[in-house]
Amino acid sequence: MIDLKQYEVWFVTGSQHLYGPQTLETVAQHSREIAGALGASAAIPVKVIFKPVLTTPEDIRTLCLEANSTPNCVGLITWMHTFSPAKMWIAGLSLLKKPFLHLHTQYGREIPWSSIDMDFMNLNQSAHGDREFGFIVSRLRLNRKVVVGHWSDAQTQKEIGVWARAACAWADSQGARLARFGDNMRDVAVTEGNKVSAQIQLGYDVYGYGVGDLVKLVNEATEAEITETVQAYLDEYDVVPELRPGGGKHASLREGAAIEVGLRNFLKAGNFKAFTTTFEDLHGLPQLPGLAVQRLMRDGYGFGAEGDWKTSALVRAMKVMNAGQEGGVSFMEDYTYHFSATGDKVLGAHMLEICESIAVSKPKLEIHPLGIGGKADPVRLVFDARTGSAVCASIMDMGQRYRLVVNVVDVVPTDAPLPKLPVARALWLPRPNLKVAAAAWIFAGGAHHTGFSYSITPEHLRDFAEMANIEFLLIDEKTEVESFKEKLRWNDLYYHLAQGI
Ligand code: MN
Repeated sequence: MIDLKQYEVWFVTGSQHLYGPQTLETVAQHSREIAGALGASAAIPVKVIFKPVLTTPEDIRTLCLEANSTPNCVGLITWMHTFSPAKMWIAGLSLLKKPFLHLHTQYGREIPWSSIDMDFMNLNQSAHGDREFGFIVSRLRLNRKVVVGHWSDAQTQKEIGVWARAACAWADSQGARLARFGDNMRDVAVTEGNKVSAQIQLGYDVYGYGVGDLVKLVNEATEAEITETVQAYLDEYDVVPELRPGGGKHASLREGAAIEVGLRNFLKAGNFKAFTTTFEDLHGLPQLPGLAVQRLMRDGYGFGAEGDWKTSALVRAMKVMNAGQEGGVSFMEDYTYHFSATGDKVLGAHMLEICESIAVSKPKLEIHPLGIGGKADPVRLVFDARTGSAVCASIMDMGQRYRLVVNVVDVVPTDAPLPKLPVARALWLPRPNLKVAAAAWIFAGGAHHTGFSYSITPEHLRDFAEMANIEFLLIDEKTEVESFKEKLRWNDLYYHLAQGI
């Protein structure tokens, strides 16, 4: 569903006419070579397009406007091989609406000690040319990523790749359509927010529907569609006997399949990228959608439970960032604690809706009663999550701004089997520990719903937050509660004042 190769970043080199045509031709050759190497790098998931070397304010302005109006261009990589007087960049950068990364590199890795002369020095000036460019970007107060290092280094390419993934998610978010069935769970605060502000700040549009609009498509699911979907369940999962054909509850599985068919058709017809459901509004649906949500998430849709549209958009963004990488992305909720001498742990889960992309092994397809919602027993996938480091990310509307808070966690095996727990789950140790992480999270107003991933890192999410110009807070092994609280206070001031700068 998500293909990052459709996207491109433009490799843009700045120079000036002072050096004459021969030097500019060399600059162009070098830039073409670097752009080619970045485009060929396995670490960078998008096309890298070489653009002609820019030497005038008019050309720079024209290129920035072209980037704005090219849908597949998710951002620019800028580099000043020579000196490029930065007043030339003011008009273009002021108009640029795409994210950009300032690559502070040099064509040659090392100084050629025996042959270096002033011609060489005049060609290889990024050490000061990039500082001139950096000044004007800072003077304009524009967000950007700065990557320092030789362009052929794996670490440099990795950092560019992370940024490119975030830029794809940002592009995907612009004009994205989100579907909500019903409203937020009544009286819940953190899942609420200003949808107009979200559209202005993050680019996506949230569309509300009565659950009856979905019920209509569920009822229209054909026997053939249902049978085909049930067959996919039988092929892909360990289906418990009572749900299998001939089993006592096979009708419930077909019911679940009809929900999946209807939901999938609804999302496809409306070109939606994410959606929400709520157990408080299920009129006409026989079960709370569990299995259907799990499978649609696996296929790249963002999801938030209880009407949580902000988290659904965040999960979608993380799905885009993660496209083509190992390691999954799921909706998640901090559910229950395990206070223990061997480390305090969090059991993460949800009533049903955890994505199978994080499963350690083939999921089991089961049916169990659900204590809330007052509906028929829902079918769901049950599994343990893989072990390893992961992130939990949460986005809140703080009134004046959106805040993205991220905690790095280490997923570990459960201390013992959980034979009676009928939902998918992950057990983790938050960094630096639960005592600090949970306190910091709570001071930050972090939500109970999160986007969870093994392969997305804080760097991906920080880059994304910079593009969106929203607040970013990280809780990891270096976090200490008192300084974190100070940061929250300073940020409150900053985000009030910055609007007026
Ligand atoms: Mn929830």
